[in-house]
Amino acid sequence: MKNHAIMIVLLLIVGSAIGYFFLRDNKAPEMTLSPANGAFSTKKPPVLTLQDADAGLKTLVISVSQDGKITELINKTWERGIKQEEITLSLEKLSLKNGALQINVKVSDNATLSNQTEQSFSLEYDTKPPVISVLTTAHNVYEGGAGLTMFRVSEAVKYAGVQVSDRFFPAYQQGNGVYACLFAWPHNIERSAFTPRVVVEDLAGNQRTGGFYYQPIPRPPTTDQINVSQGFLDNKMPDFQQFYPETTDPLQLFLRVNGELRAKNVARLNELTAKTADRPLWEGAFLRLPNAAPRAGFNDKRDYLFNGQKVDHQTHLGLDLASLAASPVPASNSGTVVLAEDFGIYGQCIIIDHGLGLQSLYSHLSSIDVAVGDQITKGQIIGRTGATGMAGGDHLHFGIILAGIEINPREWLDGHWIQDNFTGKWNPVMAQP
Ligand SMILES: [Zn+2]
Repeated sequence: MKNHAIMIVLLLIVGSAIGYFFLRDNKAPEMTLSPANGAFSTKKPPVLTLQDADAGLKTLVISVSQDGKITELINKTWERGIKQEEITLSLEKLSLKNGALQINVKVSDNATLSNQTEQSFSLEYDTKPPVISVLTTAHNVYEGGAGLTMFRVSEAVKYAGVQVSDRFFPAYQQGNGVYACLFAWPHNIERSAFTPRVVVEDLAGNQRTGGFYYQPIPRPPTTDQINVSQGFLDNKMPDFQQFYPETTDPLQLFLRVNGELRAKNVARLNELTAKTADRPLWEGAFLRLPNAAPRAGFNDKRDYLFNGQKVDHQTHLGLDLASLAASPVPASNSGTVVLAEDFGIYGQCIIIDHGLGLQSLYSHLSSIDVAVGDQITKGQIIGRTGATGMAGGDHLHFGIILAGIEINPREWLDGHWIQDNFTGKWNPVMAQP
């Protein structure tokens, strides 16, 4: 009696161990399809990911059905031991029509009692690129300046904008469906490379580019010489020691700040453009710092001299305006503060977003009266002028940024230019039904 009980217990243990060994994988393979729904084209085909962590993948059957016609795309059996696989579904050979289709996937694993997963995906086959209709006509663009183009696209898009050489200027869709795009002729792009084109891509990955009439107007840079004195270095460079503690020679530190730190700060402007509003927050001409004398202009090619020797070369990309020390600085137009902090070469700095990728920059301030997120109205005092950052004396460095690059601020201070190049195009297009 006792022996029998022990026997039964032993058999139970051995039996469940064998059972566990053979049947331990009771999980079916997992699958994901990307995209799992919506539109695709053969340029961006769906990608199937399969996984079976225990027994491994065994068989796969994929079929495609459209308008009642079912075609087998893949029928395969794996060698043992494959636990994960990624398969790009090439549908070119199936002679599909644009429109709805279903992809059916059946996959099994190597478990003793094989587990199977079957799933059907409804997608939209689309090989037609979108049609672009440009609604604005003349685009006169000055070197270093901006232009506005507005267009319609025949279908929903992943992105739309204007490509200029390696720079992409995003367009923003307005309430009536029209896309508005401020784009620029960046100061560092040659006339021959300035060939702006509208580019769009639909949700299936079909791209289209569209030309539009434009007239580039060269505006050659100016040149200047900046004398870097020993006094300036002694006075200014300790402020920047924190950025490069290992560089103790004041001139070497100046060169790193003027080169490396400048490049780092400019790169940050690119990030801030992501915070732009999708419609204009501003109206009319931008305000200039009142009662201020111009000290330096946009696209000013500067040689830096130390003891009569050229030690550096940089391009100045804003307007330097000098008034009384610690003059109140008005916001040049309405918008939202996206940066208000000590910002490298710019010193104490404010950047206001005006929408459509357009932002204004106020730098070398002695004080800041606003914070990130504040809604600002045109003319509101946002801070006071100063000489913080890479500034030799009290002044305002005023900049206009478009899609992360500095463009000529003078155009935006000019009511006639705004009427001809923005409002005169915007209003008629937005008035269309
Ligand atoms: Zn400046």
